[in-house]
Amino acid sequence: MKLEAFIVDNIPLIKEGDNLAEIICNNTKLEDGDIVVIASTIVAKSEGQIFRLKDITPTDKAVEIANKNRFSPAFVQAVLERSRDCLVDSPIMLVETYNGNVCINAGLDDSNIENGFILDLPKNPDVSAEYIGLHLQNLTSKKIGVVITDTNGRAFKTGQTGVAVGLYHIPAIKNWRGKNDLYGHALDITEEAIADEIAGTANLLMGEGDGGTPVVIIRGLDVLTGKKVSVKNMYRPDDKDIIKKGLRSLNQSNL
Ligand code: GDP
Ligand code: MN
Ligand code: MN
Repeated sequence: MKLEAFIVDNIPLIKEGDNLAEIICNNTKLEDGDIVVIASTIVAKSEGQIFRLKDITPTDKAVEIANKNRFSPAFVQAVLERSRDCLVDSPIMLVETYNGNVCINAGLDDSNIENGFILDLPKNPDVSAEYIGLHLQNLTSKKIGVVITDTNGRAFKTGQTGVAVGLYHIPAIKNWRGKNDLYGHALDITEEAIADEIAGTANLLMGEGDGGTPVVIIRGLDVLTGKKVSVKNMYRPDDKDIIKKGLRSLNQSNL
């Protein structure tokens, strides 16, 4: 078994309105079954998802949290506006975004963007992945998968890694339940987070800094599906998530 992962060269600095599918196709020749992995940063830029902190008016709640965690009240307000739940507000902000990802600062970022601006995530990254994927398929007449990535930290471990935040034609999870291990025992719980594994693989080539390399092609992995997919299939439902429950009960006892 073998897979290839390579950068698409010559991607420019992306601006609102740029057509990512066209830019990608102009700089690489896609094949049937390719997975096009794209950093959320450039998807957000192409969709105009950037803003300035000075345009945000913090609420009293944001000011109260900012007094604890020392972030600016406007930044705290921006994070709260994108979160359906704030699991930890100090010294870090760990939130569950409206798309369901539990992450630091709701994925807001002031790196790889002009001074004074904050880069948001795409509003609905699954929809963005489908939009770009359909466009890539129209341009190439090939079956293409798309993974939109972000860089997230992990609980319990230092170091960040690429994770999938939007999917097209790529299942979030590969279910091994019912399959056998080497010794003939049926596996009963293993679900492999293949979308995150693909994101992590691509992120090795993208890097985090000034590489200017936000698009990676993964070739040779037989995982494309015709079924409707969503990154939301990765997020554990609230009632089954004991870590979230624990954090919520800690918050209650702090009140
Ligand atoms: P994130 O993981 O989606 O938050 O994106 P990063 O900020 O970590 O950037 C991932 C890669 O994309 C890095 O190699 C950046 O240099 C690159 N990158 C970010 N924005 C642009 C852009 O507008 N144009 C190009 N060519 N590269 C970019
Ligand atoms: Mn990011
Ligand atoms: Mn990154």
